[in-house]
Amino acid sequence: MGATFIVGMLCVHLLCFGAMFLLIGRRLQGRRMGMDVFALGHLMLGSAYVLQLLGGPPGWNLMSVVNHTLTLGTPAVYWVGAMRFFDRPAPLWRPLLALALAYTAAQVLVQWALGPTARYALLSGMSALLFLAMTIAVVHGARSFARDLRVEMLLFAVLIGGICVLNVLKCLQILSAGLQALDMDSAFQMAFYAYMSFLATVLAPLLIWLLLRRLTDELRAAAVRDPLTRLLNRRGLTEGLQAHFRARTAGPAQLLIVDIDHFKRINDTHGHAAGDAVLCQVADRLRAAVRQGDLVCRMGGEEFVVICLDTEDAGATRLAERLRAAVESMAVPVGGRPEAIRCTVTIGVSQTFAGGEALDRALQQADAALYRGKAAGRNRVEPSDEAATAAYRGVAAV
Ligand code: GH3
Ligand code: MG
Ligand code: MG
Repeated sequence: MGATFIVGMLCVHLLCFGAMFLLIGRRLQGRRMGMDVFALGHLMLGSAYVLQLLGGPPGWNLMSVVNHTLTLGTPAVYWVGAMRFFDRPAPLWRPLLALALAYTAAQVLVQWALGPTARYALLSGMSALLFLAMTIAVVHGARSFARDLRVEMLLFAVLIGGICVLNVLKCLQILSAGLQALDMDSAFQMAFYAYMSFLATVLAPLLIWLLLRRLTDELRAAAVRDPLTRLLNRRGLTEGLQAHFRARTAGPAQLLIVDIDHFKRINDTHGHAAGDAVLCQVADRLRAAVRQGDLVCRMGGEEFVVICLDTEDAGATRLAERLRAAVESMAVPVGGRPEAIRCTVTIGVSQTFAGGEALDRALQQADAALYRGKAAGRNRVEPSDEAATAAYRGVAAV
């Protein structure tokens, strides 16, 4: 009676959370992050337990065969869900159908050749193997593609490892005591169902927490990046600079404004799409040239800002010269045309500064230098000069 209640509650948990995952997956539309697959896994396992409740004592009948196939298919489905959660393509329906057919055939064969005990032992043994594979995959994920979710992934691994151990024990019990070991009210079966119930209660909120973390991380990343070039936007630049200067050991910074020369002509001659391709290529050159940790931002239009952190005067000017030369040697192919687009940049360099609040002043210095560089013929690096900056402010104020 107690076991029936626990399994009944387990069914309710699995089916309700399965339906919820389905709704969440639909809400996510194009990018479901595996939620629809997790829903399928929950609905399959929930249905398997419903069949177990309806089917009565263990025996050879259609309900039991379907129950075993659904139970074994579940870890495979969860595995596909986990892959898709991490944006790794994993096919679902064909392998699942193949697994279901193969396992149904295996059940018939084992029942015919070795009897019912072997069929039940096979289910526990195979489930243990699949959950072991899943535990290994989760540990591997925590060490490679899901490093930012290491704690959660390791918790998943421990919890899934628990099902693996319980299935091994169940398999051994069946092999030693026969079908009696499957008596729902035996101490072992009660413990088994209690653990599964506990998992169904804990894993679903944990999964939703992971989903929430991924979505909020992505939203935060999107809020600080320019969608075309994936460089930081102004907000990302300000936040990155503040984070740098919060560190006690932070050294001074220096800022470059990089502006593409006559960019309007590129748009007018080759079209807006070609202009976008040039912007992306220049962004790639900037990203490749700076040191790790330096901040690269698209301020808007064809204007970029690079902030060199922990630098001294000569370092930033050398970097600016390297950038200028890199862009000058760049050729951007235009679809269907023999000649590639070439362009140059003019770069204004600020003086060194310390503290996030000095950003505006550094921008003004670099902008004044850029203005002088443009006036002097473009395709050049123009260092900041306090007197010239003051003069520039005077001109701008008129
Ligand atoms: P200068 O050498 O003085 O900097 O001249 P310029 O033509 O580069 O500068 P101007 O400010 O006159 O023109 C900038 C052009 O950049 C105008 C605008 O249409 C274009 N632009 C702004 N944002 C984008 C964008 O996202 N994609 C494309 N393709 N063009 C853009
Ligand atoms: Mg320009
Ligand atoms: Mg400009």
